[in-house]
Amino acid sequence: MRILISGGAGFLASHLTDLLLEQGHQVIGVDNFITGQRENIAHLDDVDNYRFIEADVIEPLSISGSIDRIYHMASPASPIGYVKHQVATLKVNSQGTWNLLELAEKKKARFLMASTSECYGDPAVNPQSESYWGNVNPIGMRSMYDEAKRFSEACTMAYHRERGVDTRLIRIFNTYGPRMDPYDGRVVISFICQALNDEDITVFGDGRQTRSLCYVSDLVRGINLVMESDFVEPINLGNPSELTILDIAREVLALIPGSKSKIVHQPMPPDDPKVRCPDISRARKILGWEPVVTRSEGLAKMIEYYRDQLVRR
Ligand code: UDP
Repeated sequence: MRILISGGAGFLASHLTDLLLEQGHQVIGVDNFITGQRENIAHLDDVDNYRFIEADVIEPLSISGSIDRIYHMASPASPIGYVKHQVATLKVNSQGTWNLLELAEKKKARFLMASTSECYGDPAVNPQSESYWGNVNPIGMRSMYDEAKRFSEACTMAYHRERGVDTRLIRIFNTYGPRMDPYDGRVVISFICQALNDEDITVFGDGRQTRSLCYVSDLVRGINLVMESDFVEPINLGNPSELTILDIAREVLALIPGSKSKIVHQPMPPDDPKVRCPDISRARKILGWEPVVTRSEGLAKMIEYYRDQLVRR
């Protein structure tokens, strides 16, 4: 197949690209490098089946030839990233989604929207299943991401219902692994870089807020299974093993035994969800999917990768 991936130089999309190339497909990556990184796709420079277009999908894309699949993965995705690029985040998840849905209609391609657990906001129920409608502050410090992704979901369903576009919807929960931007402020990459560099481990608030962490290879396998399934409504993808942020700090430190880092507490950012954990019953039932990489394996792989890179702040 000929497959277009927006946000192609991002953390998740670059791993998804590797998976699709391994499956023998042709991949066209599109990225404007607002948060994507050139290093994430540098290994694809001489790959025949890969083509890269530097562009912002908020402008209409003209692609010659057929396209069978479109994965819309483009967007700043870390709290620091989307607060820094608030308007761009709103645009890529509105005009960008709209443009790619139009392209999907024109090319008769199947379209997958990469939505987020942020659609659930600061959830009043835990774990979150797809039937939960969420608790989002529409003007809060995460609203540019949460509300835009919710708009993208509405847009995807409208093109499906009214225009008959073949669409898929996923809600991605916290994911970690190699190729995360060391400076994007997300919890796992921040703690690993801090511990490798003997810096303070910055736990926000009392650290009792929870997350659940999915290793990137599990996640991209799930994304691909959703695309190739027949299921149109949203599917949660994430690892249902929930833990506190303080536990994440302790686990990272335990895996880097020589580190001189100490855990320190810093103020809690506004609108930070107090709990987050996916109910993945739907993914299990529809796709037969669940994560297989344990946290200790995944964290160890990620630590090796960043140790090699000798990340220095
Ligand atoms: N967090 C933290 N220290 C950091 C970075 C994040 O304690 O240096 C916390 C943050 O407050 C949140 C959780 O870790 O509760 C996950 O944050 P992240 O930025 O990875 O993404 P989120 O899940 O909030 O979208």
